[in-house]
Amino acid sequence: MSDANDPAKDWLAYKGSEKNMRTEAAVAYPQREGFAHESVEIAAPNPDEILVRVLGVGLCHTDLVFATGAGGYPLPAVLGHEGAGIVEQVGAAVTKVKPGDKVVMTFRSCGACDRCASGDAAYCRTMPQLNYAGMRTDGTSPLSGEAGRLGSNFFGQSSFAGLALTYERNVVKVDVDIETLKILGPLGCGVQTGVGAMLNSMDVRPGSTVLVLGGGSVGLSGVIGAKLRECAHIIVVEPQASRRALALELGATETIDPKEAADLSAAIREKHPFGVDYAFETTGAPAVLNAAAACLGSKGVLGVVGICPPGTPPPGEMISMVTFGQSIRGIIEGDSDPDVFIPELISLFKAGRLPFDKMVRTYPLNQINQAIRDQHEGRCIKAVLLPQ
Ligand SMILES: [Zn+2]
Ligand SMILES: [Zn+2]
Repeated sequence: MSDANDPAKDWLAYKGSEKNMRTEAAVAYPQREGFAHESVEIAAPNPDEILVRVLGVGLCHTDLVFATGAGGYPLPAVLGHEGAGIVEQVGAAVTKVKPGDKVVMTFRSCGACDRCASGDAAYCRTMPQLNYAGMRTDGTSPLSGEAGRLGSNFFGQSSFAGLALTYERNVVKVDVDIETLKILGPLGCGVQTGVGAMLNSMDVRPGSTVLVLGGGSVGLSGVIGAKLRECAHIIVVEPQASRRALALELGATETIDPKEAADLSAAIREKHPFGVDYAFETTGAPAVLNAAAACLGSKGVLGVVGICPPGTPPPGEMISMVTFGQSIRGIIEGDSDPDVFIPELISLFKAGRLPFDKMVRTYPLNQINQAIRDQHEGRCIKAVLLPQ
């Protein structure tokens, strides 16, 4: 048993090599810019696992954060957490879906804790272990690549690949054509985060004034959510002209170029003297977070999805928070209960009321680094990667 202390050997023995499959994947390596496109080996599903043939997977900022090894994420790894595709195989204990079913994959939750029981899956008590540990809960990984064992199970899916292993709590069965299915993955994270922030987390009031900081896919999904809720004023702050134009198309009533509004609160209060009822911060920039807090009116709510660097103090002034009854609300996944909310989003999309596809541009998976550059430089708002 000379191999007993070699985790890679343990893992190879564990997964049973004759059933392994090969597929393409984008792999994040430590200290390497961008992703490597390579052939990886993936294990057959465990009893509780579902093997999905990935047809499309959204590129989310969170993938790029974890690609740096943030939070101790084990690299090299396959990331990707906005996948959609067709169920290929299921483990013996899986009853929710069967081979051939079309599914959108979302974040993973346990389904057994008090949060999950009350529809608060986004705040599941085991969210970190199930989504950010980089391995199965038993410590194994079903993925290996050119460098050996790979970090896996990102958001319970690691879907920057042609095949992904996932779980019942991750998958939502959908009834759409194949071309639509390819771009549907972002409903599992970015779109449900933005729309859900408005409809669930902040539960914005019809007729209210909403400020959205950042016109990326989450901010613009927030615009769609605010429009669905019939907010009277939807103001988007975004430096890129093309994104401001799309914001107006999706339902914003005004846009602001931050380069032309050094004092954002003053600019907002020229037209809205009492400030805004809701501010939605999607950028993760401390200066923007503070500017957003300064725009709040009385009883204003600041919803935050952007992740500021560790150590960033809470925004605004305690005295104005108390005096004006304001609050700050951190938001994960739009407080979504995916089994309920994703079908609602799809109904809205089919009815033409959730045109998130206007944000989407598709790339082959092997063009992931180009997609990252385009998203970064404003040539694309939401990249969806298509395994070939
Ligand atoms: Zn739970
Ligand atoms: Zn995401």
